[in-house]
Amino acid sequence: MTNVEQTRMKILAKQFGDMKKNHNMIAFFPDKMNPFNWHISFKGPVDSDFQGGIYHCQLKLTNYPDKPPEIKIMNESGAYHVNQALCIHGLSANNPQDWTPGTQISTIVEALSMYMNLRTDRGGLGFIKVLNQEAIKKHRDASIKFKCSCGADHSTLFK
Ligand SMILES: [Zn+2]
Repeated sequence: MTNVEQTRMKILAKQFGDMKKNHNMIAFFPDKMNPFNWHISFKGPVDSDFQGGIYHCQLKLTNYPDKPPEIKIMNESGAYHVNQALCIHGLSANNPQDWTPGTQISTIVEALSMYMNLRTDRGGLGFIKVLNQEAIKKHRDASIKFKCSCGADHSTLFK
């Protein structure tokens, strides 16, 4: 491992520690050999149809913190298409303009949660353009039973 990689690993390890104190998200490592691939479960935004739901994303932090991560959502929410690289201005690898190096991973995930409920200007690639309340509620109820191969089990998370 190069010095640069070691420095980046330290930055990620610190953030992992900080994230444990956050009550809205929990990080997992699907591949123990690759510390730059994170899965994160996060709560749906409060005061919205997503409240009570738990959503799961993959962040590929290959060039973090110099460049933003590739972001994919892994379970149905009604807000984002699953397994498609999300395009979020300034926060995702495919839209890196205005990225602020060192932006905290928790800040990115907070934005992912907040943007679920955007009613207008439904973002770029990966966003479902028109929100359907019935679909959102159905996916929300299913989301709390979601399990991922990384070890995330939403039926026991945040309990
Ligand atoms: Zn996972």
